[in-house]
Amino acid sequence: MSEEPPSFSCPFYKYSPLRHWRCYRKYTFKRVSDVKSHIERVHLVGKHYCAICFQEFDNAQQLQDHSCTANFCCLPLEGPERLFQETFDELGRALAHTRGLSDADKWYMMYRQIFPNASVPMSPLTFDEPLRIMRENALFHESLYGGLITELRRHGIPLEGIHLPSLQAGLINKVLPMLADAMVTPEPYQRPVPLSRTSWYHGNLGAM
Ligand SMILES: [Zn+2]
Ligand SMILES: [Zn+2]
Repeated sequence: MSEEPPSFSCPFYKYSPLRHWRCYRKYTFKRVSDVKSHIERVHLVGKHYCAICFQEFDNAQQLQDHSCTANFCCLPLEGPERLFQETFDELGRALAHTRGLSDADKWYMMYRQIFPNASVPMSPLTFDEPLRIMRENALFHESLYGGLITELRRHGIPLEGIHLPSLQAGLINKVLPMLADAMVTPEPYQRPVPLSRTSWYHGNLGAM
């Protein structure tokens, strides 16, 4: 009878299914505008972030504690995993000029803008994923994350000095090399840095 309408995936999920399995479990999008709203809700850099490791915090005090903690050296990244507000605004402006394009083409345009140097996925849709495998990955991911936190606490290791996603990715990459490529998370995890942002970053460092 009538087929299911296509559902678009979150681009972050397509970029790294393991890292962003939550986006797969929770969200499918009927329209590209829904994808855009999701990105705005979930994938923007928060107000309080460390400009070196891009870890995010709930408030200014936590951020200050992070920068000032003695003996804590955060892992420098060239850019954040999430989008800066300005990048998101550029995305919105680009989308405003795509009238006449199919939703799939709009999706690809967004993907290229978010992940400028990454290879483009085969499909922007969710329905063609091997559902069972991804669900299992999701459960695996969830239990590993929970297990890590429990074990670190049990050994009295303070969590605030640890970038859990990196640790988790490192463990997965080391312990489970036999798993498929989809299970491997680039480490340290970040989006490819757009050229404009790179020059901003180095410009700022040069001025220091
Ligand atoms: Zn998402
Ligand atoms: Zn930091």
